[in-house]
Amino acid sequence: MVLDTGKRREAINITRGVQGAVTESGINTGLCVVFTTHSTSAIIVNEDEEGLKSDVLRKTAEDFPVNKAWAHNRIDDNADAHLAGTYLGPSVAIPVVGGRLTLGTWQSIFFLEFDGPRSGRRIVVQVMGE
Ligand code: ZN
Repeated sequence: MVLDTGKRREAINITRGVQGAVTESGINTGLCVVFTTHSTSAIIVNEDEEGLKSDVLRKTAEDFPVNKAWAHNRIDDNADAHLAGTYLGPSVAIPVVGGRLTLGTWQSIFFLEFDGPRSGRRIVVQVMGE
């Protein structure tokens, strides 16, 4: 799955695309791993509610402010984005049952951008099982 992002920090719901990959795989029972290939982004599962999405982005901005003397900024300008990606993590694993992701009613899968806008953000969806 490839995404273009439009803001420096952004939460994009990718659940539909991930379920599409599960369906396409033909796997009925197993595990779906969703992995971002970019170290200034993260993958999470949570509720698709505007306030909550903005809270998650605000919390990472508060924890990892842009204007701080991070060591990585000696060679680049995005230490805050790397730190947010590191602490939230690059992947989630979701059980697949009956060919469907076993997400709860209020759960969605999000790609979190911390260093956008960028084009060609690549997310790997690997489905294992039978
Ligand atoms: Zn960097």
